[in-house]
Amino acid sequence: MEENIRDGRPIISIIKKLRRFKKDFKRMNAPEGLFERCNGCGDLVPKNKIGERFYTCPECDYHFNISSGDRMNMLLDEYKVINRTYKFINPIDFPGYKAKYKENRKKSGLREGILTVEGYLNGIKLVAVALDNRFFMGSMGSYIGEEITRAFEYAGKRDLPILIFSTSGGARMQEGIFSLMQMAKTSIAVERYGETKNLYISCMTNPTTGGVTASFASLGDIMLAEPGALIGFAGARVIKETIKGELPEDFQRAEFLKEKGFLDEIVHRKDMKEYIYKLLKLHGYRSCKG
Ligand SMILES: [Zn+2]
Repeated sequence: MEENIRDGRPIISIIKKLRRFKKDFKRMNAPEGLFERCNGCGDLVPKNKIGERFYTCPECDYHFNISSGDRMNMLLDEYKVINRTYKFINPIDFPGYKAKYKENRKKSGLREGILTVEGYLNGIKLVAVALDNRFFMGSMGSYIGEEITRAFEYAGKRDLPILIFSTSGGARMQEGIFSLMQMAKTSIAVERYGETKNLYISCMTNPTTGGVTASFASLGDIMLAEPGALIGFAGARVIKETIKGELPEDFQRAEFLKEKGFLDEIVHRKDMKEYIYKLLKLHGYRSCKG
């Protein structure tokens, strides 16, 4: 302890803490809703700055979760929603599912955790799908499985490329085996779509886990992710307990997965539109406008 005091570390850390407290205190007393706590660096950052930077932190580049609608608005010139055939089902009569569904619906303003559109990216026509983790953590139940399958069929029939942004807690446990079945169903849909020789770009965003990682999200012709995204099947704690060993520090992070060859590229959100545009052009897709 004495040694630590002598080299000045505790004093520096106290000063640092005090500075941060002062900064936070000032911001906390600003009008409500102007700041947001960043999960990356822990700072309170002005919401307008985050918005200007495609919902990333100006201090540390942390990518905040965004809604499926914001995702489409950021990427596409224009679009129309397709495949909306939603009907609530409780296939295994899971107790409390309907009530929880209603609660999620009220809280998020969404009907389900997925948005499928047909639109244009810099004039190139495509089908785009985004999961939305404000609704049941973007977990895949029968409905999401069906909408993903239909999106592939729709794109395949029209010779369009497809782009899927995943964010998910995995299979929807309230639907039991019916949600697990969606893994096989969506994987077959990807396979059939592949026979049409069109391009499927999968982009994994924070977090993509469980049955979504273990099915369509990992089957892209091109695999992208956003920086720092947590991507995995089982949670790190479960794996650690199972193998009874230590895990690498950046385990299940996009950067680690790219190093191991699971991802083709990690793309910052601000560069995503241009990057996808280049990929589409490289694969022979052309602007239908002008
Ligand atoms: Zn930050």
